[in-house]
Amino acid sequence: MSLFYPDYSFRRVYEIPAAFFLERGVKALFLDVDNTLTTHDNPVPHERVRDWLEEQRQAGLRLLVLSNNTEERVAPFARDLGLEFVADAKKPLPFPLWRALGEMCLSPKEAAVVGDQIFTDVLCGRFSRCLSVLVEPMEEEDWGFLAVKRRWEKVALRRYTPRRWQPPAGDEEEFAVCDECRSSFRKGSSQMPRLCPECAHHLYGYPNCEHVFENGRCIRCGWNGNQSDYIKELKQ
Ligand SMILES: [Mg+2]
Ligand SMILES: [Zn+2]
Ligand SMILES: [Zn+2]
Repeated sequence: MSLFYPDYSFRRVYEIPAAFFLERGVKALFLDVDNTLTTHDNPVPHERVRDWLEEQRQAGLRLLVLSNNTEERVAPFARDLGLEFVADAKKPLPFPLWRALGEMCLSPKEAAVVGDQIFTDVLCGRFSRCLSVLVEPMEEEDWGFLAVKRRWEKVALRRYTPRRWQPPAGDEEEFAVCDECRSSFRKGSSQMPRLCPECAHHLYGYPNCEHVFENGRCIRCGWNGNQSDYIKELKQ
């Protein structure tokens, strides 16, 4: 796997459901600003970003802006959204990010770096050992230095097939994340609100879903096949 390949790709930041992060044990998000939360040097966040941030907040995620841009640019933007921030973050270097993680008492595995650039955001995710999530830039920049960078990004990604997250089929609103295995599942499919049918079955004897797997997920309940160590032991 190339150093330049993100763990996952999405089109826009506001298309990433909170369940995606929760499933992976992520507790904090480091968000790029330019071309991720808004267009380049725009003081106003994209109209769908506010709601998206609120959704992540309600899911219990810590939200930070991690930007290589100056404090002058980043601070007002972050404050307006009620976000903590690291300006002049020196991405792809991991140190400013690690310092912020240390202050939150979180390990890199519990954080995700989300951004639109391979050589800063994705590399920073890799170097820091966080989950790295690439989004497409909000607007094409076909001028000057950035255009050159974009061309090099295409070279770095020439053999890359985006790894898209498969949300469980159905309405996203209806999903919960299982406390035991961290898979998301369709709420209606389980008799326990915080356990997927698989875990509810093995832990409490509720009837299990008759799973039908497609693309790594059960199309009925949405379980992704995750198993906690405890349940693995129970099954033996
Ligand atoms: Mg950017
Ligand atoms: Zn489960
Ligand atoms: Zn199922």
